[in-house]
Amino acid sequence: MAEDQGRRAFLRLAAAAGGAGLLSACSRGGGSSTASPKASATASSSATAAGVAGAAAPAATQSPSPADWTALGRDLSGSLVRPGEAAYTVSKRLFDPRFDSLRPAGIAYCRNPHDVATCLAFVRKFGVPVAARCGGHSYAGWSSTSGLIVDVTRMAGVNVSGSTATVGAGTRLIDFYDGLAAHGRGVPGGSCPTVGIAGLTLGGGVGVVSRAYGLTSDNVQSLQIVTADGQVRTCSSSQNPDLFWACRGGGGGNFGVVTSFTFRTHPVGQIVLFFLSWPWSQAARVISAWQSWAPHAPDALWSNLHLSAAPGGSVPAIEVGGTYLGSLSAASAQLDKLYAAAGSHPSSPFMETTSWLHAMLVEAGCASLTVDQCHLPTQNPAGQLARASEFAKSDFFTKPLSSHGIGTLLAGVESFQRAGGAPGASGGIAFDALGGAVNRVAPDATAFVHRDALFQAQYTTTWPTGSAGSPGAAGSAGAAVARQHAWQQSFWQTMRPYASGQAYQNYIDPALASWRQAYYGANYTRLTQVKGTYDPDRVFTFPQAI
Ligand SMILES: Cc1cc2nc3c(=O)[nH]c(=O)nc-3n(C[C@H](O)[C@H](O)[C@H](O)COP(=O)(O)OP(=O)(O)OC[C@H]3O[C@@H](n4cnc5c(N)ncnc54)[C@H](O)[C@@H]3O)c2cc1C
Repeated sequence: MAEDQGRRAFLRLAAAAGGAGLLSACSRGGGSSTASPKASATASSSATAAGVAGAAAPAATQSPSPADWTALGRDLSGSLVRPGEAAYTVSKRLFDPRFDSLRPAGIAYCRNPHDVATCLAFVRKFGVPVAARCGGHSYAGWSSTSGLIVDVTRMAGVNVSGSTATVGAGTRLIDFYDGLAAHGRGVPGGSCPTVGIAGLTLGGGVGVVSRAYGLTSDNVQSLQIVTADGQVRTCSSSQNPDLFWACRGGGGGNFGVVTSFTFRTHPVGQIVLFFLSWPWSQAARVISAWQSWAPHAPDALWSNLHLSAAPGGSVPAIEVGGTYLGSLSAASAQLDKLYAAAGSHPSSPFMETTSWLHAMLVEAGCASLTVDQCHLPTQNPAGQLARASEFAKSDFFTKPLSSHGIGTLLAGVESFQRAGGAPGASGGIAFDALGGAVNRVAPDATAFVHRDALFQAQYTTTWPTGSAGSPGAAGSAGAAVARQHAWQQSFWQTMRPYASGQAYQNYIDPALASWRQAYYGANYTRLTQVKGTYDPDRVFTFPQAI
């Protein structure tokens, strides 16, 4: 392959297959930066669920008056944005325009733990619902509320000292990787550049190099959190160890507002990136080969498998992406094993050695962007990313799919073509290989219980938000998105016989009835005990709160 051609193929595949198959919701042009009028006017099912979170807050003794809100604003060293102010429309937004109809009573941009404690005293005094917000990527919109959003993004930054890094809880993933890379260090994490380190870490954090270095949460040495009583607590294996345990996988929004994390970091330099695709006719063999290869490969190899389809498209796509911590020749030797098992070479292979930071940009869908550009315009004036809408569900798989299971999987992806989705929509499933360091941690060592899976899967469907509206929107666009949602639910349902029954708490799913068992398994009881100790009045609550 000529170098230019190879580079183009690489960028195309990087955009299509990288980032745990999630780039569609993170990459440039993935959606409109402003919500469609229809989406804003009509609450989606998840937006309704977020409203329920507000209703479940502690009873108010007396509602705060405008003067009380003004006093709160005065008491903060950060800022408070209220309805009617110019900044309100942008300040209340989450990443997904589906939630633009939510109207919090205030958004507090906290600059330090004292600001957070001030906010918590306010919500306790007046019984105002509260939600912590970092990157705003909650799939259910549960970092918004009808009450006060405690936004931590002003507490951002990466401070490296030797092999550890103290990171402000409001740091976004691309800034996390950038800040660490400046010191030749890295921590495993997810792909989407605008995801917040707080939400990601509190629920686990699966992604690039997890098989080598574990989950993001496995690398936390200590953290600082403001609990409902306003106390600023340090948590580590020796200080508040029960809360430390719960904050590593117990999920965001449950135990307090985290203000910083201290991570163990790893030396990083060059890394091999690969993106491979096959004709759909080979899909069954590639899936069979990938599932017996990726979870059992050396820890240095991390890989995902992405199957995707478009409405009415001729054939779906199958792509394998990943990274390798080692030489190009050693990576090739690993990939040869995949090709041998699949019985064919990819029709579109690309592999290159690159810097750690560039690899993170590629995985983020920012292959041709700078770090500054790899943001939303509201986060960085140079930002070129757009917000996007997506429905997600997840599964863990502890056994390889049988040939019948692979047939069901392929049929599910193919059926998206006939599902009547919106123009420009996509639907599919992305598998992340597990095993390695993730599975060497005992299921009860941290709150992240999923330690025996071969891979996890995320079922996604996206649509261009500027044109298609939300599922609740009137007219054909809203109906098309509703059909996509129905497709996703039914695809997930057909995979029940093959999946473990566990689900990823960070792909929080309002439709999941068995969420306690699915997210937390045997750890749920201990999580409720920690909740009882640190938030007995359930100041922090939402529909799937511990
Ligand atoms: C497009 C996209 C791509 C993703 N890619 C990956 C991936 O590659 N790997 C992966 O593991 N996950 C991934 N995720 C899932 C992601 O980890 C979760 O959605 C995560 O909760 C987002 O965190 P956030 O801070 O951006 O979101 P937010 O919506 O701000 O927060 C999520 C939850 O955490 C709470 N929270 C936020 N800040 C704090 C805080 N400081 N203290 C306490 N609670 C807090 C919120 O109240 C909310 O309940 C992805 C999600 C999306 C939408």
